[in-house]
Amino acid sequence: MVKIFKNILEIIGKMSNSAAGFLLIINSGESGILASYGESGKIFVDIKKYLNKLQKSGNFSKEELYKITSFNKPAKKNLYNSSFIKELQSEKQGTCYYIILCSQGKDNFNEANFAQFNPLIDSFCNIIKEYDGSTLKSGQDNIQGNSIYLNGNRILQSFYEASEDLVFILDKDGYIKSVNEYGAACLYYDTAEIEGKHLIELVAQKNKLVFAESFQKIIDDDKLITFEAILLNKFGNEIIFQINCKRLKDEGDEFKVIGVGKNITLLRNYEEKISELNVRLIEANRLISIEKQRSQRQKTILVELNRLKSEFVSNISHELRTPLASIIGFSETISSDLNMPDNMRNEFNEIILNEGKRLAKLINEMLDISRLEGGRIELIESDFDIIKLLEEVIESNRKALETKEIILTKELPAEPVIIKGDKEKISKVLNNILNNSVKFTPLKGRIIISALGLYKEIEITISDTGIGIPEKDIPYIFQKFYRVSRPGTEIPGTGLGLVFVKQIVDLHKGFISIQSEVNKGTTVILKLPKDSKV
Ligand code: ADP
Repeated sequence: MVKIFKNILEIIGKMSNSAAGFLLIINSGESGILASYGESGKIFVDIKKYLNKLQKSGNFSKEELYKITSFNKPAKKNLYNSSFIKELQSEKQGTCYYIILCSQGKDNFNEANFAQFNPLIDSFCNIIKEYDGSTLKSGQDNIQGNSIYLNGNRILQSFYEASEDLVFILDKDGYIKSVNEYGAACLYYDTAEIEGKHLIELVAQKNKLVFAESFQKIIDDDKLITFEAILLNKFGNEIIFQINCKRLKDEGDEFKVIGVGKNITLLRNYEEKISELNVRLIEANRLISIEKQRSQRQKTILVELNRLKSEFVSNISHELRTPLASIIGFSETISSDLNMPDNMRNEFNEIILNEGKRLAKLINEMLDISRLEGGRIELIESDFDIIKLLEEVIESNRKALETKEIILTKELPAEPVIIKGDKEKISKVLNNILNNSVKFTPLKGRIIISALGLYKEIEITISDTGIGIPEKDIPYIFQKFYRVSRPGTEIPGTGLGLVFVKQIVDLHKGFISIQSEVNKGTTVILKLPKDSKV
């Protein structure tokens, strides 16, 4: 019953535009707040304190209570600018009920507004009259046809009409005896269309089992049962209700079920949307963090590139300056000493020539890379014997090999292996690889060059017993300007040789890989496709 009081109070509150409302019960034994609506926090506590004070002082007259109307103490403190109090007549000796409404509006409870909600207060009075202070007298609820009567009074009718919830009465088997108009309209039905149906007919298929279990609880128990039900409106759309149901005793063993359903579809939809948005938020955050990591990586790459470029500029300047210094120095010596012996002049001339060649090689390497990068390099293809080319490359390095007393072993096929490609560029590739082996192999080291003609490709392996490449550097070895940092060793280079090698091998649709171990040596494996027509 108290639940119904609360509902009616809520309706009166809404109709009267009140922010808070209270139903007080006052009698000699107990007094307190029977039901409340709206902001029940601070004002609720304040009013309770006020009532206790009045009761303790024994000064519990109606006049004293009416002083609450001004709400000098509790209401003003809680920013309510107008209030309303009315005694609801009780037939029980010594018991009074009061309805108190509070509003933030200054003149909220004026005559016009009062006229709006007064009829509901009258109905409330009737309900109160039947209430004996704690429970309903048994047998007093009586449901007849489409209206609800309490002791012959049409007391719940106004509640029915004003309620913005689905209010319904079922018989003991679950058939709908009565439903309020608003509730029926929520489902796009007229009341007459619903009445007589079994409630389970309105329940969505997937929810029928849960609903049946809840209904069993209602008829088994005297308690108020709350559950969620998915009902279908006239057009088959799902509407979610939170339903409060209770069994009401009738005459004899018969009983009815009264229920109030709150449409919580919007709430559930919002909850669903919020959880959907949460998933999207998590996804967006994940993408943002990936983007952050990516841009961080790009920043690191840019910083690294910048470092490599500066290193390259300083290396290249060094590489250019050294041969230039020799050329200038030896040329000046020759021209300043006219009596220089011929053999010495010849030796100096040769140094000048070699240094000039070194300079030209360096400049050519740089030009090659820049042409390759600009896509301005074209392959001039022809069929040629790669084994023969390998022999030529070895011969051109013979002097350097001898200078370092490196033992070179060849394991080459006796037959020619014909490939289709740019002979000159492949020659540069092989030269670069062999040059590196010679450059990074100490005195009296070993180099093994082998070639294996496979079905569709030729596999060339150049292995040395040189200083090797640290594992961490291997993945970067084909990057522009990348040189392994070896503090204390002055091995000349630009970090461009292998870039050229890789790009030319790629243009030939070949494959190159490097395996290496520090202080043990390096193996370069090169695969080039054979000419399919040969
Ligand atoms: P560089 O002109 O510096 O030789 P490369 O692109 O040819 O440039 O080689 C890049 C780096 O790879 C070299 O600086 C060197 O440290 C390493 N490297 C290449 N080949 C060998 C090898 N056979 N042994 C040891 N290190 C090598």
